[in-house]
Amino acid sequence: MAGRRTGQADDSERPVLVWFRDDLRLADHPALHAAASAGTVAALYVLDPAQGGGAQMWWLHHSLDAFARDLARHGVRLILRRGRAGDIVPEVAKSVGAASVQAIVSPLPWLREADRGVGARLEVPLQLHVGGSLVDLSQVRAGSGRPYTVYSPFARAILKSGPPPAPLPVPVLRAAEVGAVASDQLDDWGLLPKRPDWAGGLRGMWTPGERGAAARLEAFLEDGLEGYDRARDMAGDENGTSHLSPHLRWGEISPRQVWHALGDRQGSDAQRFRAELLWRDFAANLLMQRPELPERALRAEFERLPWRRDAGALADWQRGRSGIPIVDAGMRQLWHTGWMHNRVRMIVASWLTKHLLIDWRGGAAWFLDTLVDGDLASNSANWQWVAGCGTEAQPFFRIFNPLTQARKFDADGAYVREWVPELAKLPDRWLHQPWAAPEAVLGAAGVRLGEDYPRPAIGLDEGRNRALAAFGRHVKGHARAAAA
Ligand SMILES: Cc1cc2nc3c(=O)[nH]c(=O)nc-3n(C[C@H](O)[C@H](O)[C@H](O)COP(=O)(O)OP(=O)(O)OC[C@H]3O[C@@H](n4cnc5c(N)ncnc54)[C@H](O)[C@@H]3O)c2cc1C
Repeated sequence: MAGRRTGQADDSERPVLVWFRDDLRLADHPALHAAASAGTVAALYVLDPAQGGGAQMWWLHHSLDAFARDLARHGVRLILRRGRAGDIVPEVAKSVGAASVQAIVSPLPWLREADRGVGARLEVPLQLHVGGSLVDLSQVRAGSGRPYTVYSPFARAILKSGPPPAPLPVPVLRAAEVGAVASDQLDDWGLLPKRPDWAGGLRGMWTPGERGAAARLEAFLEDGLEGYDRARDMAGDENGTSHLSPHLRWGEISPRQVWHALGDRQGSDAQRFRAELLWRDFAANLLMQRPELPERALRAEFERLPWRRDAGALADWQRGRSGIPIVDAGMRQLWHTGWMHNRVRMIVASWLTKHLLIDWRGGAAWFLDTLVDGDLASNSANWQWVAGCGTEAQPFFRIFNPLTQARKFDADGAYVREWVPELAKLPDRWLHQPWAAPEAVLGAAGVRLGEDYPRPAIGLDEGRNRALAAFGRHVKGHARAAAA
């Protein structure tokens, strides 16, 4: 072979470096596939110092641990490095003698910037593959050639083009010799909480890693999919939704795998579930075209809304002490498990941004710190949706009434009783509105309002009227200014 004779390996013998990001899996991994068919495989994960979110870092630790063991079963060692990807990826590519670097496209602005930096500094090609979304989002375009900013036409366009590509199997891997390449120890990254160790509830609920993801999907197909269309809104129904979000967030399973696992099931349950997966793609599509999504209201008139600065009310909301039982149940579920039911996410976000008139960015930041599925695209898009300031948003005058919502979606009170146990003995009639309960009822249930459990910072009607006035004034003021 020419390479041997000249002392230079030809490309089929040179390792290919797979740069893993939010795609910690072996199956349906187009970048890993490309690497496996081109040569021997080296694997790298780079932790950027700016990456954050306590609960996310807990997940990342366990996910990397599981992934490194899965790779090791194929003889491949996962190289771990911490620092700026723009410096580290070219350095590691050089030290393994890589013929190319393969990775999966990310919608995250900082990773897209890192891709540009790495691409500019690499002496070999950086090849990006579609693998984190159902379809190639750069190709989903309206007739005008522009990307979609509204969900329904976006989803229709994807559905019209048929099912997303079928998932790829785990490839046969030949490991590159990387024994001499420096790698950090995962434990030294200190991703797990120590003092205090707040992760007990997370450990009890989740199994990060590709196997954990596959088990979740299987359980959902067996026990959750049937009836999903209705049960998905019921806060206390543990099998009502798939709980796949953190696994999807970290790429331990791909959306295509989930989509194709449904097979050709039709009916409202399967259709609704597919629609939710499409919401995930839609959020990624928004972040790709509007990288400012996490920081700025997409509808400019909302950018200067006079939000109230109320650190005390924000802290009470965060700690599950707002005085609204359904809100507090959600916030405590979030703190304890790193996850919150979707319906309740909407209710707590609406209470914060409308009734309390607190900037959606404060709520979004808390979610990103405490959610194990904290995802910049889905989180920002959903917060903007609830606050009414996104391109695809509910109008500002639609304000969730937490009492009506609780009575509908936690009708038997099981959810509030689980997460707000100090109210558990209240009869159903008063459970969701202890502030209105007669003293005798509170006394019989052992609830001392204002002591064991707080009163809300503002009444439901008062908060709603204040929000309508503030939003209305502002939106009208903006419309007048725009017309002038
Ligand atoms: C204020 C707010 C913040 C949110 N922040 C996040 C976040 O940081 N990360 C995140 O993954 N989801 C977020 N969501 C969306 C949604 O709440 C979660 O995806 C869902 O609760 C996850 O539970 P599940 O996997 O059981 O969902 P299922 O009902 O089983 O849905 C299946 C999958 O579809 C996707 N999906 C479902 N609903 C949505 C949605 N509204 N938007 C985007 N994708 C969706 C998720 O990937 C989910 O795993 C947020 C919603 C709100 C209202």
